[in-house]
Amino acid sequence: MANMDLNNGTSQINANDVEAIVKKVLENMMATPSAGLSAATSQPAASRVIPRTSRVAMLTALEQYEIREYPVPPVGDGDILVKVEGCGICGTDAHEFKKDPFGLIPVVLGHEGTGEIVSMGKNVTKDSAGKPLRVGDKVVTCMIFKDNPEITMFDLNKQNVGGSDVYGLLPDDDVHLNGWFADYILIREGSTVFQVSDLDLKSRILIEPAAVLIHAVERAKSTGILRFNSRVAVQGCGPIGLLCIAILRTMGIETIVAVDGEQKRLDFAKEMGAKTGVNFKNHQGIAALTAAVEEAFDGHPADFAFQCTGAPGGHSNIYKFIRNGGGLCELGFFINNGDATINPHLDICSKELTIVGSWVYTLRDYATTFDFLKRAEGIGLPLKKLITHEYPLEQINEAHRTNLKMEGLKIAIVNK
Ligand SMILES: [Zn+2]
Repeated sequence: MANMDLNNGTSQINANDVEAIVKKVLENMMATPSAGLSAATSQPAASRVIPRTSRVAMLTALEQYEIREYPVPPVGDGDILVKVEGCGICGTDAHEFKKDPFGLIPVVLGHEGTGEIVSMGKNVTKDSAGKPLRVGDKVVTCMIFKDNPEITMFDLNKQNVGGSDVYGLLPDDDVHLNGWFADYILIREGSTVFQVSDLDLKSRILIEPAAVLIHAVERAKSTGILRFNSRVAVQGCGPIGLLCIAILRTMGIETIVAVDGEQKRLDFAKEMGAKTGVNFKNHQGIAALTAAVEEAFDGHPADFAFQCTGAPGGHSNIYKFIRNGGGLCELGFFINNGDATINPHLDICSKELTIVGSWVYTLRDYATTFDFLKRAEGIGLPLKKLITHEYPLEQINEAHRTNLKMEGLKIAIVNK
């Protein structure tokens, strides 16, 4: 999970329905002209050499990974053994590294991972969307269960069922190959897995964080306010805000104003499709900042705003940028960063705002994300520049320290 969560699905859909739905989404996707991402060629199973052992990066104490070597376990009839090619470092990994809030240590982290199937059990024939699976295919896992395409982390937490196939957040066990910060991962029978051989490595590493934004934009669309000609403000230009801008841009929304305190990030926001950027450090007080945002929209307030920072002050400010009858999607508070002060009369009631929250994603959003990545590449958005740092597995401590220093945007472990 990147910096967010999911939403609530109430319908009871059986597994067959889900498979049919996801399959349809993917079929539609296949009918879309692809943007020419590098494709992987599947090769016969016999050509894959499986080593006897695999390295994993085990978080054994706060801020301390140890590289350990374990035997590669036998691959069961429903299991898939994957050679890891890369895995992004998520906000969740950073929290675990610093504080272990979930009490998982010792644990092999890494859930934004992808790699190549090197072996699979005889019962494995299809991925969670019904696409055929072969040795040599590139895959990703997803923390959302396939029995309900609308289920979200919100539901999982509510039902207390999270964790059973959330690779990268599983406590260590006899298998050990439970996270993507490793050379190999064993994906167990019944897990949610997608074949994404038509996406290149960097695009595959960005699937999980991008799915969070696909979900947020779907939530925003549910207000009925977000339209082709909408003026949209995106506050916060970290990976989440930048991906948000890219998704809006691929939807054909052109009047996007980015708000951040770092000029470098604002420049990147323009590359991702923002019309212009407003640096809040250049404006003293909320009235001046609001005026600057309106000026960036040629004298108008925003029709819709996405709040992508985790700062309470950011939440308080964003209402001022939005017009009467406009909409807001708050997705910056992936974790509890404290209370924010607003004036409910001025900020919500008298403006008649429509507000949605967004956290993580649904399984359906995941399938939509594959399509988004191809579209973004097709219209020339430099999405892959979001991955600013790559480290080999043995430098995972350093990679996390770079992440904590907030240097760069998305930091990834890449196995050569
Ligand atoms: Zn994540």
